Parts: sequence; C-alpha cells; structure tokens
Amino acid sequence: MLFDTHAHLDDPQFDADRDAVIRSLKEYGVSRVTNIGADINTSRQAVALANQYDFIYASVGVHPGEISGMCNEDLDTLKTLALSNPKVRAIGEIGLDYHYDDADPQKQQFWFRRQLELAKELSMPVVIHDRDSKGDCIRILKEMQVSNGVMHCFSGSAETATELVNMGFMVSFTGVLTFKNARRAVEACSVVPLDRLMIETDCPYMAPEPHRGKRNFSGYVVHVAEKMAEIKGISFDELCKITTRNAMEFYGICD
Ligand SMILES: [Zn+2]
Repeated sequence: MLFDTHAHLDDPQFDADRDAVIRSLKEYGVSRVTNIGADINTSRQAVALANQYDFIYASVGVHPGEISGMCNEDLDTLKTLALSNPKVRAIGEIGLDYHYDDADPQKQQFWFRRQLELAKELSMPVVIHDRDSKGDCIRILKEMQVSNGVMHCFSGSAETATELVNMGFMVSFTGVLTFKNARRAVEACSVVPLDRLMIETDCPYMAPEPHRGKRNFSGYVVHVAEKMAEIKGISFDELCKITTRNAMEFYGICD
C-alpha cells in the first residue's frame, strides 16, 4: 500500500469530482494521503478533508509565495488548527521561494523562521518548500537546529540530498523522477538511504510520466514508486513497504 505524503486535494482543480477522486484512491493502492496547506484558507481545507476521510491527514502552514499579507494572527490560527485537530501532523508547507521577481527574501525568511519556531513549540515535523533560495533555506534550518523535517519535491543535487540526510531530514520525490530530463533528481535519489525516502505527488501539479502535463492525483504516486524502486534496485513491493513505513513514522501515524 502506498502513502502519498504531499497532496493538494483541496485545489479547485478537484472541485468537480473531489469526492469521487478521493474514494477511488484505494483502487490505486493508496492507503494514506497527507493533504498539505499552503495558506490559511487551504490549511483549513486540509483539516476539513482530514476530518472527513479517515485515511487523509493534514499539514498546516503558509507557503513562501503566500506570505505577502501574513500577520501574527495567522500564526495563532495555524497553532489553533494544529492543537485542536489531532489529524494535523506537521507544519508546512513552509520555506523559501526566490523564483519569481516579486519575491521578498527578507519577508519570506521572517515568516519561515516564525513558522519553524511554531513547529518546534508544538514538537511537530516540518514540510519544507525550497526553490532557488541559494542556500538560505538550508542555512536557516541549520541555524535554528531543525532536524525533524522533509524536503519536499526534491530536485537538487546528490550533495544537497546528502547534506539534508546528515541534518536528520527526510527527502521526498515527486513525478519529476520519471521525467526524461531527471538525471539530477535520479542521482540524488540514488544516494539517499532507504530509511530517509518518501514519495509524493504534489498533485494537482507535477504529474508523472506517462501523464505529464495533465491533472495529477494521489493515485499516480504509483509511478513515482515504480521509478524509485528501479533506481534503488529493489522490488516495487519492498519500496512501497519502506516508504509507507517512513511516512507513518514521520507523520506519527500508528497502524
Ligand atoms: Zn505542495
């Protein structure tokens, strides 16, 4: 059975058929999903989905691309959501994203640090988004001595993957692994120890081959698992068993 550790099933792309999509997941071998919040509104929606479906868990946080209007009250809201809903298992996705020209690195770093402090206060793992942050993301994680986290949608170098592993981090891969030009991600995956690997879809984005460019959903995590089993040179069943166990441990879920 598969665990999609990072999904956005609250996304408007699922508005027309969300319940049918979620109910179909068992047919694809998906037994658990963590739905990830990316702002206050989607964090609330993640919690609502987790409370509606027994096999969905939630993470709450504000993505670096969504922090422009963030205020202290939002931090309180995240804290209340995490404390009052037992199915909230992590803070995220949080991090740094300097990809767009209007990014404000100082402001992003401020709210990243505040949310890392919240996770520490709540003794919760963090789900990290890092895009083009030029090393600032890992530097801050080290400075704040954060070791209980996952780097999601990893597409960096093998060196960076090893650095994260040495920090105590999990490394999670999406359908990017299946892309023709994924040499770097494949190299990174090959150096991460089995007990530090997780798989995810990041749906509705990042659809793996052979569905690239279409709407992604948690059922397609099977393609990530197949590719990862091939890279690690183990059977598909073994890969599923290991990555599901890793995810259960990371999100504090008992059988
Ligand atoms: Zn995401």
